[in-house]
Order: sequence, then structure tokens, then C-alpha cells
Amino acid sequence: MAAGSILIVDDEYGVRSGIRQILEMDGYQVVDAETGQEALALLDAAPVDVALLDYRLPDIDGLTLLEAIKARGLDLSTCMITAYANIDTAIAATRQGIDFFLPKPFSPEDLLGVVETLVSHKQLRVEAERLRREHEAGLLALAEEKSQTHTLVGCLRDAVLVVNRGGEVVLANQAMTELLDRSECEVLFGQAQELLADGPLAALSEQLAAPAKDRTVTTLEIGEASYMASVVTFRGDDGAALGRILTLSDISEVRRLATEKARFIRTMVHEFRSPMGAVKSLIEVAVDKSLGDQVDAYLPMLERAEKRIDGMVELIGDLLSLSRLDAQQDAPPAELVDVAPLAADVVEMRREFMSARSISAEIALEAGLPPVLIAADDLRTVLTNLVGNAVKYNRDGGRVTVTGRLDGEWVRLDVADTGIGMRPENLEHVFDEFFREKRKETRDLEGNGLGLAIVKRLVERAGGRLEVRSSDGEGSTFSVLLPA
Ligand code: ADP
Repeated sequence: MAAGSILIVDDEYGVRSGIRQILEMDGYQVVDAETGQEALALLDAAPVDVALLDYRLPDIDGLTLLEAIKARGLDLSTCMITAYANIDTAIAATRQGIDFFLPKPFSPEDLLGVVETLVSHKQLRVEAERLRREHEAGLLALAEEKSQTHTLVGCLRDAVLVVNRGGEVVLANQAMTELLDRSECEVLFGQAQELLADGPLAALSEQLAAPAKDRTVTTLEIGEASYMASVVTFRGDDGAALGRILTLSDISEVRRLATEKARFIRTMVHEFRSPMGAVKSLIEVAVDKSLGDQVDAYLPMLERAEKRIDGMVELIGDLLSLSRLDAQQDAPPAELVDVAPLAADVVEMRREFMSARSISAEIALEAGLPPVLIAADDLRTVLTNLVGNAVKYNRDGGRVTVTGRLDGEWVRLDVADTGIGMRPENLEHVFDEFFREKRKETRDLEGNGLGLAIVKRLVERAGGRLEVRSSDGEGSTFSVLLPA
């Protein structure tokens, strides 16, 4: 260790300089004082490692000086040097915390031996204090890290159970205790195998006990929900198994989406297969010249084929719109749209078709109806679909009414018709992709069942909602609620 700094307090100049010389020759830094007050002033200015104190000083005695040093809380080793050593002084000094007692006269070796010991004591004390602080800080950081990990695991949506080498549960988060329908106290430190044995996770208790495969993944049904269960062995630095972690992730939604996707694809294939089959047979008739050599004979049939192809093109367009909406791609910016001119335009576009079936249309918007916040093209698509359906599913001579009014913070646009209406049980499916109500009145009507699915997504994209009321045989009302 480095040589230390020493303070000599002695009223005799000869003693001070003698000690100074011996110590300096050994590399110590030395300061000296003649009186107690001088010594305290030196210590206040710069603390030292060791103070050598004479007992008899001109102003205060060595014990009072020692008391004053201790009162300052200075960390230094002290040694009393005195020619008047008696047992009482020694006891009193020891009580006050003196570290060593060196009676005068002493040899240079004695002095150096004592000083060296005291300096290294002091330095060891400092080092020990530093290590203690470091250790304390380390423990604090560890405790903090532990509690952070605990909180983190606690918040996970996945259920987590950690089991030690002895098969005891050492951690179970809230999702896990809820799944097991037990409190944390009931679960912690119990044997995992027993705990899981007759509960919903019974199938996993074997895996937790079986000798370690590093990872097993299985699926599990609990009530209505599906879970992916993984049991992972965790190992120490030396590769020895320390325990297992069981995690359960709820995959019900993923399953539902996968089933829905498969259903969607099946329906889509069917929607394409039937018109393509029809077009193919029509082409075969032409190729085989089944209707003779006159081109005109084939025209009605070609028109039918063209219509089916138009239907498929429309289907492709709708599917693209749906997938863009689902991927939240290319969303045009919302703007403040005045409903009146747009609604009039949409109705006007259908006018010819309506007059052919003697259907009347009326637009009745509340005076002062505020503009709505939506992309104008989106609102046009929404109204075109709803008005189109109100006409398509109407009866000859029926009526279509578009009304608009302020409803709290919403603008409510109702598209009502006096048409065939819908069966109550179908209302919850009306916004599903490809849903079409099967009834004799709609058998010959063109459509692919995607229009309302698109309308719903467009309205929701604008922060609004879509509602339907219908009465079988009497008509339907579709309501679009948009932020005013
Ligand atoms: P499409 O009209 O192409 O079949 P939509 O998604 O627009 O597809 O409508 C889905 C189904 O909802 C229709 O097939 C029809 O059965 C029913 N529907 C929609 N609008 C009305 C309406 N105004 N009156 C009665 N039924 C309707």
C-alpha cells in the first residue's frame, strides 16, 4: 500500500523533528504541531492517516485532543506517545478509542513498525468501507432488478410458471394464478406436478416432471380458449438444468382468424368458380358452333358471358378494396364534407334505374346539418352502396329516403327503403364478407356480398359506426353515424 500521511503532536521540538526525520526517510508525508489547537487546525485543513499524540501538551492534554479528533468524525488511526505512561492514562485513552500506545523512549524500528501497522489499518478500513458501499449498491441494484423482473413477468398477458430443479414452483404470474384459479400463496413453493395434476393444465404436469427435453410445444384447449403451451428447460453456465419455465399463450384469436381466413378463401374460390364455369360453357358453345354459323345467334350468349366477366371484375375490385382497407393502406385524408350535394349526386346517378322500376327517392337533410369528417370519396362509396342496395332490394313502386340529422356529437345519415327487408337472424351477419340473404326475391339479383363489408370498414376508418334496422317484408334502414 502507499506510504501514508502522519501528524506528530508534541511540544518538544527535538522529538518532533526526530520522528519526522525517521518517517520521512521511509517515505511518509509528515506534518507536526506543537499544541493541541495547532494540531486540530492542521487536521481541519488536511486529514491524515495517522496521528501521533503526546499526552502532555501546552494547551490541552492528549485525551482532550483525542476527544476533539473523534468529535470531528475524522477517519484516522491514533497513537499515544508519552514518557509519562501509566495504566490509568492507557485505560482512559483506550476507552476513547486510541488505536495504539507507544511509551517514550522508543527505537526508530518500534516507531516505524507501529506507524506502518496503523497506516495499513487505516487504509484497510477505507478499502473495507469502499467494498461495503459497493456491495450495498450491488445489493440494491439486484433487488431493483429482481423487483423489475417480477413486475414485468406479472404484467405479461401470457401465463408464466417457473419451477426449480426440485419441481417446486418459484414464480407464477397473475395470468397463471387466474388460469389455475388459485392464489399466489397457494401456488408458490408447492410441487408443480401436484398443483397441475387435476386442474386445466393436467396434460402439462408430465412434461414438467419428465427429464429435460430443452423445449416442448403443445396446444391445449381450456374452456372456449386455445393455448400454445411451451415448456423450456433453463440451464446454468455449466449447462446443468436449473428448472423449467412453462408459458401459455392464448392463441384463440389467431385460431379464429385462421378459420375465418380459410372460410373466406373457400367462399372466394366458389364466387369465382361458378361464373368462370358458366363463361367456359358459353365459350364451348361458340367454339363448337352449336348454334350454327350465324354470329348473331351467339350474341345473347356472349352478352351473358360479358356480364359474368363484369361481375368477376367487380369482385376483384371489391376484394382489392377490402384488402387495402384491412391493411390500412392508401387511406385518403379526412376532410369536412357537405352531405347535401353528395347525396343528391348519388341519388341522381340511380335516377334512371329507379324510374324504370317506379321507385321514388327523397332526400331530407335537417336544416343547418354540419359537414362530416370523412374522405369525400369514402362517403360517396358508402352512400352509393347503401342507396344502390335500397333500390336493388326494393319493390317496384317503392320509396328510398335519405335523411340526415344531428345526433349528439354525430351526424346520423339514414338510408331507408320500403323493400323486402331482412330476416332478424340475418342482421348480425349482414356486414360479413360474402354474406347474401338467400330468399326467392334475391335469387336473380346480381351481387357478391362484399359491398356492406366495405361500407362498414370505410365508416369505421372515419371513426364512425354503421347500424341496421330491418323488418322482414317491410323494408330496411341503414344508419351511418359520422363525427360532426
Ligand atoms: P350484395 O348486395 O352485393 O349482395 P351487400 O354486401 O351490399 O352485397 O349486401 C349483403 C346482403 O345484405 C345482400 O345480399 C342482401 O341480402 C342484404 N341487404 C343489403 N342491403 C339490403 C336492403 N336494403 N334490403 C334488404 N336486404 C339488404
